[in-house]
Amino acid sequence: MAKSSSQTGSRGGARRWGRAQLDNRKDPYRPSKKMSQPTVCPDCGAVFHRGRWQWSAAPEGAIRTRCEACRRIHDGFPAGIVTITGEFTPAQAAEIEALVRHEEKAEMAEHPLNRIMAIERPNNLTMIITTTDLHLPRRIARGLKKAYGGRFDEHFEKDGDTVRIAWQTK
Ligand SMILES: [Zn+2]
Repeated sequence: MAKSSSQTGSRGGARRWGRAQLDNRKDPYRPSKKMSQPTVCPDCGAVFHRGRWQWSAAPEGAIRTRCEACRRIHDGFPAGIVTITGEFTPAQAAEIEALVRHEEKAEMAEHPLNRIMAIERPNNLTMIITTTDLHLPRRIARGLKKAYGGRFDEHFEKDGDTVRIAWQTK
């Protein structure tokens, strides 16, 4: 059976990842079956109800299933990677980190599954931010550009499951 993988049609339910060119990708973190019942994530408390993940009290009888974001965190498998390079003083690095956290907070309020997994400083010139989703990296990059100028390059991996953004001050 040579079933084409294109045009799988509307899934209803969970939020689309939002980029047309990614529609045919196989995302291992997509819910494997359509979730029709209220679900609560035992790790973060996000609730899947009426077709989307949200921050609310779990409806009575909600089933307990780990959300995609917590599964990625558990597996250590980010969807987004933002690499920041530049010469920063410790104070500037702290300021950048605060900005990044601020963007995460704003994004996460609306989209509970869009989160930072880790912020790492492998050396004085580099900061690496990993995220559970494909949208937060761009939001972070835009925030950085707005605050500090510089430029960023965005690159989607072939599989479409990963986005890498590099931002530099000049
Ligand atoms: Zn969760």
